[in-house]
Amino acid sequence: MDNLAIAHVLNEIADLLEIRDENPFRIRAYRNAASAVTDSGERIADLTDPALRQIPGIGKDIAGRIRELVESGQCRYHQELLAEFPPGVLDLLHLQGIGPKTVALLYGSRRIQSVDELEQAARGGALRGLRGLGPKKEQLILKAIDEWRRHAGRHLTPDAWEVATGVVDYLRDTSPHTTFDIVGSLRRGADTCGDIDILACGAAPDLMAHFVRHPHVERVLGQGDTKSSVRLRKGYQTDLRLVVPESRGAALQYFTGSKLHNIELRDRALRRGWKLNEYGLFQASDGTRLAGDTEEALYAALDLAHIPPELREMRGEIDAAKEGTLPRLIELSDLRGDLHMHTTATDGRDDVETMARAAKAAGLSYIAITDHSQALAMANGLDEAQALAHARRIREVAAQIEGVTLLAGIECDIRPDGQLDLADDCLAQLDIVIASVHSAFNQSPEEMTNRVLRAMECRYVDVIGHPTGRLLLRRDPYAIHVERLIAAAAQHGVALEINSLIERRDLSDAHARLARDRGVKLVISSDAHSVRAFGGLRWGVMTARRGWIEAKDVLNTLPLEALRRGLRRSRKGKRGKGVKA
Ligand SMILES: [Zn+2]
Ligand SMILES: [Zn+2]
Repeated sequence: MDNLAIAHVLNEIADLLEIRDENPFRIRAYRNAASAVTDSGERIADLTDPALRQIPGIGKDIAGRIRELVESGQCRYHQELLAEFPPGVLDLLHLQGIGPKTVALLYGSRRIQSVDELEQAARGGALRGLRGLGPKKEQLILKAIDEWRRHAGRHLTPDAWEVATGVVDYLRDTSPHTTFDIVGSLRRGADTCGDIDILACGAAPDLMAHFVRHPHVERVLGQGDTKSSVRLRKGYQTDLRLVVPESRGAALQYFTGSKLHNIELRDRALRRGWKLNEYGLFQASDGTRLAGDTEEALYAALDLAHIPPELREMRGEIDAAKEGTLPRLIELSDLRGDLHMHTTATDGRDDVETMARAAKAAGLSYIAITDHSQALAMANGLDEAQALAHARRIREVAAQIEGVTLLAGIECDIRPDGQLDLADDCLAQLDIVIASVHSAFNQSPEEMTNRVLRAMECRYVDVIGHPTGRLLLRRDPYAIHVERLIAAAAQHGVALEINSLIERRDLSDAHARLARDRGVKLVISSDAHSVRAFGGLRWGVMTARRGWIEAKDVLNTLPLEALRRGLRRSRKGKRGKGVKA
């Protein structure tokens, strides 16, 4: 049973408890545990009881439920709760604006058990007379059902970021003196996101009228003086809020989340006799304002160092902020090189020279050209002779370009049996070898793990590319035992990649953190297939930041010579020959 499956059950228990109107602390305990399980880089099912109990947010009772779940595939408590409600009732919770209390009411007094039944009831006027469910709410419910059916999907954060910055540019045209902030999971740099949230500080109220006239608006969901919501093309729900300057920091903090992080901060304020909300931090007794104009001041008032948005996921950041041990997170400008890209020799769109000049323009001082190997026939993969000829060509180009060093490398396929796709004596003549899985994704965990571990035994493999093969919102990671992968990487001195392609971001933040904790070096790569793709490195850096990664954990922050020494091939006393331009 994987972590997501365990977290799903814990979350469902929380939902069911909420419908039953149980103790909020109990509900929150299950939510916290679910998120701890989701975020854990370790496979929860493999942990011993003491190890399980060491995870913050997992107490004795919940540890017992998890144990039962892992051992029997079910948890009795969960089953008992489920038995109290028909299965469709939980779907109702996914409707916008329908909380557990409404669900309890709908089920309790009208026996509504599914989205379909709710729709029928709303259309037939059968909800009238229920507390708080007038004609207006009826319309909202019907709209929510419609939305839910059409826009159940989420978005890749970088795609949403592009939409959000487009909206901000549009708003800025008429409001040049307003400060705009994109908040929510976008600001935290999560892999995917639901809505887009934008704050406008110091704007006139007529900004709202301008906002709802954005050319991509499909529907105005609500328009008010301080908040408006629209549905943009491709299903992006976008909320705009007006904020006064004295509350900007508090609003930034509040709307950036995450929810769990905010709950913890609010509790911290409460314990001091204060009140924290989106308007500021106040004395609870007399409402005196203590902070709120900047985030920094807000955190400082709570005796915390300012926590970067990427860390606000309740993964230990509040303790670290208290103790002054927050990491110095890596920044895009720390990257000196990029070790994974393709050219026209295989499936890239630009040739070696064009890529090199673009990399130089992007401020990189070295790059590795790593085209595909022969197994990827549809990408025109190279065999040994072609790979070596390509390496010669790369070195010729390198000799002609100043200011950027080219390494001749390869992205070598790992065949289904774990053999590398090119012979050792070919790999030995290259400067860097990335080994990646591009086929037979459906192998069992045992097969897949042994496959990659076997590939790592080759002394010329320096990096494992996109180690779990996930494609966000499209394909789950293949069944690889990440713990064992990381242990083997540590043993062999192989680096693991954080691939920056926006649908990959692989390793994930949690796995990158685990790898670093186990002494594995990381590389952050663009996997560029054209000159435009170097910009994507920022998303790999974002993933690294979310994984608490510092510059020193990442090989391609090193100057060239140090980088070469850091690659596995030279650690084993065997140096490749790069060509310096
Ligand atoms: Zn690849
Ligand atoms: Zn690639």
